[in-house]
Amino acid sequence: MSSVTLDHVHKRFGKAKGVEDVHIHIESGEFFTFLGPSGCGKTTTLRMIAGFYYPTEGRISFGSQDVTMLPPNKRNTGMVFQNYALFPHMTVFENIAFGLQVRKMAKADIKERVERIMKLVRLDGYGERRIDQLSGGQQQRVALARALVIEPQILLLDEPLSNLDAKLREETRYEIKRLQMELGITTIYVTHDQAEAMSMSDRIMVMNSGVVQQIGTPHEIYHRPVNRFVASFIGETNLWEATVTGIEGQNVYVQVTPDISLCGSLQQASPQVRLAVGEKVALSIRPEAVRESAGADGENVVRGTVALAEFTGACVNYVTSVGPHQLRSMFINEGSAVKQPGEAISLHIPKNSIYFAG
Ligand code: ATP
Repeated sequence: MSSVTLDHVHKRFGKAKGVEDVHIHIESGEFFTFLGPSGCGKTTTLRMIAGFYYPTEGRISFGSQDVTMLPPNKRNTGMVFQNYALFPHMTVFENIAFGLQVRKMAKADIKERVERIMKLVRLDGYGERRIDQLSGGQQQRVALARALVIEPQILLLDEPLSNLDAKLREETRYEIKRLQMELGITTIYVTHDQAEAMSMSDRIMVMNSGVVQQIGTPHEIYHRPVNRFVASFIGETNLWEATVTGIEGQNVYVQVTPDISLCGSLQQASPQVRLAVGEKVALSIRPEAVRESAGADGENVVRGTVALAEFTGACVNYVTSVGPHQLRSMFINEGSAVKQPGEAISLHIPKNSIYFAG
């Protein structure tokens, strides 16, 4: 297994920007995800690691080896593509064996290695099936087996679950994680799906418009987003613009509207934020942090009208109109009556759940 370092890597396509100044060190054995909306530069970055694109600037290394200009077949990476890129007229066995045959491995060794990997991805017994006789989930596992059979030092996965339905996607993400942990292989995963990224990764790199926004553990990215983009892209949040009106000790007082003033804590702020009286700031308030308040008054209690009530079984989600703003909240369903649209509601926003995003 190998670590991967991108040292101030840029990629331009003529005049068009691909990615800008990606600077990361991925540890050996780490599950690392590139996450962001379409066109943010995830695939371009992955392709540079695979060797399909060469950087315009910067350096890429695997461990201590500089691979910046090395062709793909010299890098010992295994890749799974979004559309799997399997050979439809070949059997499962032939598809998985292909990379070993190209490497001129002895027949008996190929058989042994392919059978072992088929077992690992739970495809034993399927060797003679043609690809077009398999379900989408099984095809996905063939693609994974084909990438793993060459015993790569790095596994690269480009949106490998996007062709599967929601239930299978969830099952397969546990399967990939299980395999990765079992093999301890350095894995780089590309997705635009934040739930996928959060549930599988050791660390996530969030990108937007070719620029890295934040690198951190799922917990850091969720609870300490550096800016508005990360706060709203990861999970649901209420983003309210406000003006700082006072700072006393650890307390930060902000005015959201003439009628809504809140108190937050100095400790709950992105390093990118300047907290000073008169500064405009973005407040990120997670729906699950909002509480229903028994009384209509008090610090950080806001009064509003239910605009939307959604009962999902485990939870009740409300969208509440609070002056010109909407406040999303999420409560664990404990069996009490669900409020209906039009009903008054008082909500408490705990001080420590107000995060000042940059
Ligand atoms: P998606 O999720 O849609 O695949 P992405 O985050 O992987 O998006 P990239 O495919 O890496 O994004 O694209 C990043 C930027 O680089 C985009 O603006 C894209 O148009 C541009 N780009 C990517 N490949 C090329 C290319 N071969 N020629 C010109 N521009 C390109």
